[in-house]
Amino acid sequence: MTFIPFNKPYVPIQSYEYIKEAIGRGKISGNGFFTQRCHNFFCDQLKFKKVLLTSSCTDALEMSAILTQISPGDEVIMPSFTFPSTANAFILRGAHIVFADSESTNPNMDASQVASLITEKTKAIVPVHYAGVSCDMDTIMQIARENQLYVVEDAAQAIDSYYKGIPLGTIGHFGAFSFHETKNLSSGEGGMLAINHERYFDRSEHIWEKGTNRSSFFRNEVDKYGWVDIGSSFLPSDIIAALLYAQLEEMDTIQSKRLQIWDRYYSQLKHLEQNGYLRLPSIPDYASNNAHLFYLICSCEKQRQDLILYLKNRGISAIFHYLPLHKSPYYKDKYRGPKLPHSELYADRLLRLPLYYNLELDQVDQIVETICEFFSTKKTIYSASINER
Ligand SMILES: *Cc1c(COP(=O)(O)O)cnc(C)c1O
Repeated sequence: MTFIPFNKPYVPIQSYEYIKEAIGRGKISGNGFFTQRCHNFFCDQLKFKKVLLTSSCTDALEMSAILTQISPGDEVIMPSFTFPSTANAFILRGAHIVFADSESTNPNMDASQVASLITEKTKAIVPVHYAGVSCDMDTIMQIARENQLYVVEDAAQAIDSYYKGIPLGTIGHFGAFSFHETKNLSSGEGGMLAINHERYFDRSEHIWEKGTNRSSFFRNEVDKYGWVDIGSSFLPSDIIAALLYAQLEEMDTIQSKRLQIWDRYYSQLKHLEQNGYLRLPSIPDYASNNAHLFYLICSCEKQRQDLILYLKNRGISAIFHYLPLHKSPYYKDKYRGPKLPHSELYADRLLRLPLYYNLELDQVDQIVETICEFFSTKKTIYSASINER
């Protein structure tokens, strides 16, 4: 039996050359040659206004919490069904987090609820594009405009994904991306902040480089550099940027393989959805699919647990995802809001299947067959419970 892991990092052969080149250039700290090449890739080819590579998406979120001038007592609205970094970045600045529920049709924040969560303390909305599928951005941006709020897109999973043709991460004031090993493009650890309005360009560079105006100095805009703002060391080494650049060059190849896998899962599992055994991802008309994740929504937590075990015993690693943040050990006693039933539903029933560049299509078929086999043997137990979703 060959084991199929949930994820396997893909390292393009060119990575080794680029790392060698980065070292050979004799400047391996941040903001070097490959960092610039990555920045140019996003600005020239993908039409981002300004980006800064960071050591993680967590860092990019922390930068955006500084840029939005979050101060103690400010409220920040975000989904409960997300990774702790989305919230932590703002908690570190003293914010109180107001959690929104997910939509019934997909795990994204329900934009129609956001207006009712706004108070005079609200400072920002942080939509998370779960699985790389866009939130309802027109609604969110309109609420933000009406109430003069910042929008920070947690686009960790959303590289090469679009809302009505516009790249995710470029719609709000700021967009935070991840290049962690588990994401579509990866430099091991890594991230990026997209800065979408010119008025934040200078300050974002200062915060990025330890509160100094070092970037302006190296562009010969000032004759000496110094401490001008708060900040931290958010920039990655140029070796990390070299790794990332090799991925960017192969973005189209990586993405088309991931989509091929995604489509194969979808078309071959569709009949299980039609027969009421589970739900497959649903992608709104305004959103594109970047094939970040392929997930199933089981009919109950018990079914998911049994399916995980069934797959595991046959060498396939499938895993659940977030525990809702409003029920997390760190936050449950601080949470003052209502029940968030959809967030809890996804926490209990969502199951992610293996999806990575080097996953072979016959392995996808093998996974699909195993899932179908599970449902054909368990038919009587679960078919009755599916409609209580
Ligand atoms: C992966 C992820 C993060 C964290 O990214 P890092 O690069 O590991 O810091 C944050 N938010 C979401 C939604 C993620 O999926």
